[in-house]
Amino acid sequence: MTGQPLDTHPARLRIANALRTAACLAFLLIAVAVLVFGFGRTGERIAVLMCVNVAAVVSLMVFCGNTGIVSFGHGAFMMVGAYLSGILTMPAGLQRNALPDLPGWLAEHELSVLNALPFVALAGFAIALLTGGAIARLVGASATISTLGLLIIFHSIAVSAREFTRGSQTFYGVPRVTDLIFVLIAAVIFILIARAYRESRWGLFGRAARDDEDAATVLGIAPRRARLIAWVLSGAMATVAGALYGHILGAFSPASFYLGLVFSQVVMMIVGGMASVGGSVVGVIAVTLLLNTVRGLEGGATVLGITLPEVFGLTTIALGLAILLVIWLRPQGIVGGFELGPGADAPWLNRVRSKMTQAAAPATAGDTKLVAEGLSKNFAGVKAVDAVSFEAPTGQVTGLIGPNGAGKSTLVNLMTRQYDADQGAARIGEVDLTKLRPHGVIRQRVARSFQNIRLFRGLTAYENVLVAALAARHGHAEAHAITLRELAAFDLGDIAGMRAENLPYGARKRLEIARALAQDPSILLLDEPAAGMNPAETDDLADRLEAILRDRNIGILLIDHDLKFVNRLSDRVVVISRGQKIAEGTPEEVRADARVIEAYIGRGRGGRNRTLHPDGRGL
Ligand code: ADP
Ligand code: MG
Repeated sequence: MTGQPLDTHPARLRIANALRTAACLAFLLIAVAVLVFGFGRTGERIAVLMCVNVAAVVSLMVFCGNTGIVSFGHGAFMMVGAYLSGILTMPAGLQRNALPDLPGWLAEHELSVLNALPFVALAGFAIALLTGGAIARLVGASATISTLGLLIIFHSIAVSAREFTRGSQTFYGVPRVTDLIFVLIAAVIFILIARAYRESRWGLFGRAARDDEDAATVLGIAPRRARLIAWVLSGAMATVAGALYGHILGAFSPASFYLGLVFSQVVMMIVGGMASVGGSVVGVIAVTLLLNTVRGLEGGATVLGITLPEVFGLTTIALGLAILLVIWLRPQGIVGGFELGPGADAPWLNRVRSKMTQAAAPATAGDTKLVAEGLSKNFAGVKAVDAVSFEAPTGQVTGLIGPNGAGKSTLVNLMTRQYDADQGAARIGEVDLTKLRPHGVIRQRVARSFQNIRLFRGLTAYENVLVAALAARHGHAEAHAITLRELAAFDLGDIAGMRAENLPYGARKRLEIARALAQDPSILLLDEPAAGMNPAETDDLADRLEAILRDRNIGILLIDHDLKFVNRLSDRVVVISRGQKIAEGTPEEVRADARVIEAYIGRGRGGRNRTLHPDGRGL
């Protein structure tokens, strides 16, 4: 389905857009660095340190921003980088003195700093790969604690590995780098890498899993792998940043890379905004300027004729206050969740919007059907789903209705593997979905929406759909075309650049369906797509679903409480109550069925000749 040519080259447009915002950040950094540089020797030192901090914090952000996990472990990578680069670059004569017991294979290399960096990056990569397997399994606070564990372990190793590090004594003789241009170029390269990674397939997968791990899994994303890849890239980058830091210090000890350093870098990241590269850069600049201003006042000073007293620990107090103030006023950090730059998303999306109609034509689904056979699920003795069987063929809408708590959502959850079925099967051809992993369900071209909206909050509408198309194994250009097609099909083109959390309710409901359709399903499971919509919105949704049915031959299993909506679209309707199927037939047959009326209205209240009101009011 790549056939249709697009005027634009979408993947290139995306990257060009990312690089443009990265260039803005680079200019900001360069401007501040040059300004600070103007303040003589201390200014030069501050500017150089600031650039290295940008490299370090941007590295940290590659993991934290793309996974939502705050890491205290990156000090370990920085330490490895500093010591390794120090050993590789140290003058041989000095090394014999400082590290007499260094193993021969490491000794007397006398590399230049630039030549040492590839080995440093490789070491960081290897360590990240070894440690990442465990850390990527965890999320939230437990993941953060495990990174702290990593820092403590590496600190202890550095203190005890005397032949390599001189233990807790000062490690000296490291060639000094004080060249602002060198560290500035390094910082800009780090910004570009981080910015490109954020837009990449795995960057998007990571951010999707950060916002909703279960929904990401349902789309076929592997959250652990996304975290591992972010960790490895981030670790390798942090190791290089650590090497640069070591060359600036010239002499250091394990304590230089311990909690103090880690804490200040995490603060920079959070103050600026953890979710974006721009946040890291702004955070470093803001905290650097704040700290150096306050440091000037620490020893007492005269400001505007007022003599300030000497305050010990003023910088630490200022840092603490800065965090409190920012978290209070802007919980997402100074920059917030978006990328900086003149209209980081808008102009690009404007261009995209004019291309909306040229997106690839949808594939039509081959004839198949989803067959549920005796599906059952117990929750602590409650039979939520009790031996339910039905068929949902392509080219048709199969309605699934029943009172609240009947087991409809549970049924969908069994088929898309959020729950394990106690008994029964759900087949597509020969394949039993209940035997698959969640991402295997997507490979069978079965996609779903959720009753309670489960979009990726921090991603734009465009990214929400794109990530689903990418997860269904489409290439970047094709995924982009599919995304435009689905956004157009659900009238979301104008708000494509808005983050999902800021969308109005109706748009969010439609976006969920667009996201599921971007996976090119043969069978689409819609769990209450019209819930909460007003009648006009519901009619509009029905029109759109009808158009999709006409064009694509997909099969829809449609759950909803709005019976008018269900009856309008459905060819057949299945009714369940208290976990059991109680009726099945055309909408008219079902509406007249005595058991259905009883299930909805209750015994005795409806007369014998009553049928359910066609629009389902009063249920
Ligand atoms: P419906 O979607 O038809 O309103 P559900 O499938 O959500 O109904 O729920 C069916 C029954 O299963 C309800 O009694 C509900 O409380 C129960 N149930 C659903 N999910 C769980 C769960 N994760 N744990 C325990 N009980 C559950
Ligand atoms: Mg439900």
